[in-house]
Amino acid sequence: MDVLSPENRHKNMSHIRSKNTKPEKQIRSALFKAGLRYRICDKRYPGKPDLIFPRYYAVVFINGCFWHAHEGCRYFVFPKSNQEFWKKKFESNKKRDADNLKYYQEQCWRVCFVWECAIRGKNSRQKIESVKDQIIQWLEEPEEPFLEIKEIPLQASL
Ligand SMILES: [Zn+2]
Repeated sequence: MDVLSPENRHKNMSHIRSKNTKPEKQIRSALFKAGLRYRICDKRYPGKPDLIFPRYYAVVFINGCFWHAHEGCRYFVFPKSNQEFWKKKFESNKKRDADNLKYYQEQCWRVCFVWECAIRGKNSRQKIESVKDQIIQWLEEPEEPFLEIKEIPLQASL
């Protein structure tokens, strides 16, 4: 039996569609359109980088601001309940981020962290373009071991 009215089904489907446009997908597709080729989900690379550029010895991690407890970010608000649980959760996520950074830098690979806030909110299409350009520029600068991309005031990004 089909329990969804056409209206609900439509809502449901648009929900699914928006779920498919996750930050990592949007950034990957912008880079792909720009002609860059990369690996994803390659088990040989610890810490599951979202993008791997073997030719550039570079990996990119795309971090959700809440889960990775992005300090000073408007998208990170410490939950009011279960604070002990969240404290542990955030600490272990942050430790993993730090370990990943250390691991790749010890291998003389370069690391980029893109925070989700860099592409969230209004004008997200422009923001994705800007993130893409920053990643490409960084890849071409081998002496730059680390790059962090986070939300910047829109005027500055235009
Ligand atoms: Zn953030």
